Amino acid sequence: MTHATPLVLVIHGGAGVIRRDMNPAKEKAVRAAMSKALHDGYAQLKAGKPAIDAVTAAITVLEDDAHFNAGKGSVFTHDGKNEMDAAVMEGESLRAGAVAGVQRVKNPILLARAVMEHSAHIMLIGEGAEAFAREQGITLVDPAYFRTEERWQQWQKALQEDSGKKPHDDQAAAKHFGTVGAVALDSAGHLAAGTSTGGMTDKRWGRVGDSPIIGAGTYANAWCAVSGTGWGEFYLRTVAAHEICMKVSLLGEPVQRAAAEVINQEIPSMGGNGGAIALDANGNIAMPFNTDGMFRGWIGADGVPHVAVYDDEPDPTNHQPAPAAPSSTE
Ligand code: ASP
Repeated sequence: MTHATPLVLVIHGGAGVIRRDMNPAKEKAVRAAMSKALHDGYAQLKAGKPAIDAVTAAITVLEDDAHFNAGKGSVFTHDGKNEMDAAVMEGESLRAGAVAGVQRVKNPILLARAVMEHSAHIMLIGEGAEAFAREQGITLVDPAYFRTEERWQQWQKALQEDSGKKPHDDQAAAKHFGTVGAVALDSAGHLAAGTSTGGMTDKRWGRVGDSPIIGAGTYANAWCAVSGTGWGEFYLRTVAAHEICMKVSLLGEPVQRAAAEVINQEIPSMGGNGGAIALDANGNIAMPFNTDGMFRGWIGADGVPHVAVYDDEPDPTNHQPAPAAPSSTE
């Protein structure tokens, strides 16, 4: 079967401090989970299903895997809880759904999708979101389900570092890692994006980051789909995902340049960090990041899942450090 547009799925498993001396067994497990997410998501596209099906299928795999900061394995809040955020958006219809601060929803991405498809609203939070989940037959679990020892220890460390003082920038920057996201292009040429996260370790006062905010961490229109990962406050201030898509759809910039400008210039110039995955309606991929690494994967015409972690691993986007400053060439 030939398609007018290529079928493409791109995912991320978070950007941040990724040490090269990471436990090899852990790295292998993370890469295997990424491959499975790509495989399961791409199967939806191959079956002629819409991009949103690929996005939610891939993200569900990563939420269920305890290595990622989404669903099981989410980071702990200052109060020792797991509070999760997620969003989805379809590019062609501009339909969107989001949830924030949920503590019992096994797969927050599925609830975000239910909000989009079965409610009159775009965003639900906390207990109200969980009441809606119950009505929709979405799986709820005991909050203990999300706990992992590794995340608990990370939180204990953060508590010690933060006791009595405002977090230093570098501490805050190290607290995000492992958020998951996906963008897909289906056989109808339609795009979709989704992001799911536990947020930032030791977050307080019902803090919500960029991931579930349409336009900040997640956005799609007819030309472009984006999922971000990084220090959310900066993605909120730059409305990063929307900014990338506007550069593509209004300014006609290639998606790699648009994404690199926001992720490698605008966000670091303000003191933030992180990465993003972006996909345009022709199947062009961008996966920029300004951190040590970003778990990222893609699957396209060859049908083979590709996964990369560090910045020197080849990927199809010619991962660029930063575009030339405007004064030098343009
Ligand atoms: N962006 C997420 C947040 O700020 C965290 C992350 O991507 O790791 O909640």
